[in-house]
Amino acid sequence: MKTKSKAAKISVRLRSASARQAKRAVAASTHAVVPLKERRLNFGNQWDFAPAPEDSRNYVIAPRHELFINGKFVTPKSGKYFESVNPATEQPLTTIAAANAEDVDSAVKAARKAYDKVWSRMPGRERGKYLYRIARIIQEKARELAVLETMDGGKPIKESRDVDLPLVAAHFFYYAGWADKLKYAFPGKTPSPLGVAGQIIPWNFPLLMAAWKIAPALACGNTVVLKPAETTSITALRLAQIFQEAELPDGVVNIVTGAGETGAALVNHPDLDKIAFTGSTEVGKVIARTIAGRSAGLRPGSTSGGLNRAGSESGAPRLTLELGGKAANILFEDAPLDQAIEGVIAGIYFNQGHVCCAGSRLFVQEGIYSSVIKKLRDRIQTLRVGNPLDKNTDIGAINSKPQLDKIKMLVQSGIDEGAKLTQTQCVLPSKGYWFPPTFLTGVTQAHRVATEEIFGPVLSVMTFRTPEEAFERANHIPYGLSAGVWTDKGSKIFKMVNQLRAGVVWANTYNKFDPASPFGGYKESGFGREGGLQGLAAYCRLD
Ligand code: NDP
Repeated sequence: MKTKSKAAKISVRLRSASARQAKRAVAASTHAVVPLKERRLNFGNQWDFAPAPEDSRNYVIAPRHELFINGKFVTPKSGKYFESVNPATEQPLTTIAAANAEDVDSAVKAARKAYDKVWSRMPGRERGKYLYRIARIIQEKARELAVLETMDGGKPIKESRDVDLPLVAAHFFYYAGWADKLKYAFPGKTPSPLGVAGQIIPWNFPLLMAAWKIAPALACGNTVVLKPAETTSITALRLAQIFQEAELPDGVVNIVTGAGETGAALVNHPDLDKIAFTGSTEVGKVIARTIAGRSAGLRPGSTSGGLNRAGSESGAPRLTLELGGKAANILFEDAPLDQAIEGVIAGIYFNQGHVCCAGSRLFVQEGIYSSVIKKLRDRIQTLRVGNPLDKNTDIGAINSKPQLDKIKMLVQSGIDEGAKLTQTQCVLPSKGYWFPPTFLTGVTQAHRVATEEIFGPVLSVMTFRTPEEAFERANHIPYGLSAGVWTDKGSKIFKMVNQLRAGVVWANTYNKFDPASPFGGYKESGFGREGGLQGLAAYCRLD
């Protein structure tokens, strides 16, 4: 037979195909097989998202911003202005008035007049109407406010849009609801307002901190002089326009912009009944010392004759301080690991780590240490760093050059002291202030990065063996603002919560906020609470 049958030909082809397959299998077996646990998805740059920037052209930022005193925008007596820049581009956004002691005095006088003549006399249900109106206008303008917040502060638009702004409106709604129900909030007591409140806020949540402070103060019948942070004043001044739109009576809220000297002038003003400060422990201590030295007779300019109107015998205004933190996020072996990793990521990298309650110390139980590190290493590679206005951005710009320098200095100190650095491998924009998501391993309790507030996207990882060791080490620090516990055992959660010296403890979650829930610290993280009924009590005299 000269020709093979069709069946024979097919059989030959099949034999040679299976021989090739066998050859390939032998070749493959000579390469190391990656164990299942070690395998990772590697998309390279194939899955890059298309840019999705929020359009900021619709929102015009005025080239100059004035002080907001007695319901009007007024030029500063100081005659001075400072520049506010976009930290993601280093482009100037606007110039802002710098208030001096004379400007602060005008603002306090306007607040006092509004307190005496209008706001403290107004029935709670009327005050509540104003607060509801403000809350609704904030909701209407939420997109604009979110864009401004992101441009001014560098935080990702998805955070300002989906976290900050909804919470800002929620705080005004929540305290609007209490304005006519104060006597039910504190049964058996007769709540009355304190008077004029001086409020100083930081740059990490500019509008949210303004809402935390203004809403409860107004609900209780107080009037306010607010000092926003120098780098993030734009949204507070936009809020002032909203107060005008809501027809809030003149002088009920006054906004004095400027640097630390403006804040100091406010703290030193003799006619305040309450001071509320959020910021660094260092400045908090300065404020506490200033007020401690102020007693009856030491208030020469006071219109209340040495005694403040809150009735404090020392003549000093009441004080609440919400200061720094270095929270422990504690990961037990029995925790649902993948969810816990997401909680750790959200805990430290949310808002570039510019969060006083950030979970910046991770304590991992020894048995799961290596798998936690691998998961963390992989997860941080997926975080997208860049244009804060892009909806896909996870990590925005660092708020200012001094803050970036501080982060770099502290991370370097960690490396110098023996810690090992792991960072997201990404290309950082050439302009602006940036720091990639970072974690440090090999950290010991003696390292600076284990105890000092870095206030950036930097996590210090340490280990523990027993629950006792975990809370001992977590508490062994001057701060006491917040903590997190990850375990599937309810009993362990209760044990830890009872032992941790922290104002807020989250269990199997992190960074969850609600206006009804009080927030504040122990030890050098300050005193007093904001949010909830406790936040209301901080602005009332309860006879
Ligand atoms: P500050 O504590 O200096 O700033 C907070 C606010 O206080 C700002 O409005 C600031 O004004 C004002 N201020 C500054 N000095 C005085 C003063 N002597 N009297 C009254 N008010 C004053 O924080 P920084 O912005 O300097 O940040 C430094 C560090 O503080 C950060 O690295 C971080 O560790 C920590 N921090 C903690 C925050 C928290 O929420 N726990 C918030 C912010 C910072 P201005 O900004 O205009 O100078």
